[in-house]
Amino acid sequence: MTDWSRLTSRLTQRQQQQLIRQRNTVETAQSAEIISNGEKLLNFCSNDYLGLANHPQVITALQQAAVEYGVGSGASHLVSGHSKLHHELEEALAEFTGRQRALLFSTGYMANVGVISALVEKGDVVLQDKLNHASLIDGGLLSGARFTRYLHNDLASLTQKLQQHQTGQQLIVTDGVFSMDGDIAPLTDIATVAKQHSAWLMVDDAHGFGCLGPNGEGSVTEAGLAAEDIPILVGTFGKALGTSGAFVAGDEVLIESLIQFARPYIYTTAMPPAIAAATLASLKLVQTENWRREKLQRNISQFRSGASHLGLQLMESVTAIQPIVVGDAEAALMLSQQLKAQGILVTAIRPPTVPVGTSRLRITLSASHSEQQVNQLLESLEQACKQFKTTSSRLN
Ligand code: PMP
Repeated sequence: MTDWSRLTSRLTQRQQQQLIRQRNTVETAQSAEIISNGEKLLNFCSNDYLGLANHPQVITALQQAAVEYGVGSGASHLVSGHSKLHHELEEALAEFTGRQRALLFSTGYMANVGVISALVEKGDVVLQDKLNHASLIDGGLLSGARFTRYLHNDLASLTQKLQQHQTGQQLIVTDGVFSMDGDIAPLTDIATVAKQHSAWLMVDDAHGFGCLGPNGEGSVTEAGLAAEDIPILVGTFGKALGTSGAFVAGDEVLIESLIQFARPYIYTTAMPPAIAAATLASLKLVQTENWRREKLQRNISQFRSGASHLGLQLMESVTAIQPIVVGDAEAALMLSQQLKAQGILVTAIRPPTVPVGTSRLRITLSASHSEQQVNQLLESLEQACKQFKTTSSRLN
């Protein structure tokens, strides 16, 4: 018998801290309304911001490509897994982002780990925003470069760190839109500081790509910046594009270096070609169906004005990510359960995903939500908060 006592005690500790995470098994396609464990729920925690995960054109593209190209890609990109469909998607992404080239990765997590660990090494410095996504942090740690974090969106803190750590190549890394807070990085200022220090700059726009910018180009275009201002751009497909995978866009030298040195690119099976075809179809919808971004914006405004009317404390976010910080992990869990009892799915985000004392309901809005569904969320939030106050006053 294997002795798992170490693991058992870690699990028990998590349980005691009320930090055990549980999965919801979904029995339907991703959309505003889903069925999970037999329960009909309004889904307010998906990243399918534009409602494309279940779009007929995206599904058809996937089906047709699977018929023609099969399901598995069979090998890594550098062996025999790089299909014509992958190539077409890379070219479309390069054009859309206004860069020389783009390179596909199987997931955003792998893109981030791959880029950072390929570009810097021992003797260099990685400077990251404190609230960057876990995959960026992991890439920084794996690279072997000196790793330092600056205060969230704080230019003075970034500048101080740049002055403090001047050895080797400096790489600044930031999310475009922060995944747990929903706020947007001050990219114009960061790009200026990066240039002043001859530092490389990487933006992970997982939550901005598809949603921001006049045609969904993302937070770089939204900020009015050009491609050369942000030399390393990462975007993912699992969110606004409704499929799966990621890309890095940049100039020839960057992309060629990643092909040669990014281990999560080299040593993994290429994404299924049908996913590339589906992503191409959804990229076209992103570029042509502006109404999706407009509808998303209307839903965000409706939610924000309704929530502030209820006296709920919102964060400074104009994006689809609208967290309500509760503080205590147990309280966030209780509120999430109360919402679920009313047919609303919003997961509680707790440490270690967010700092201790900042547990929250991470509400995400989508173009697929109707006005009436957003109202239903607001009514349920009001109910849940009332119930929560009554319960906690009884407990106190
Ligand atoms: N970056 C950010 C900011 C993210 O939020 C996520 C996913 N939560 C990723 C990267 C990872 O992307 P993927 O899900 O494609 O691995």
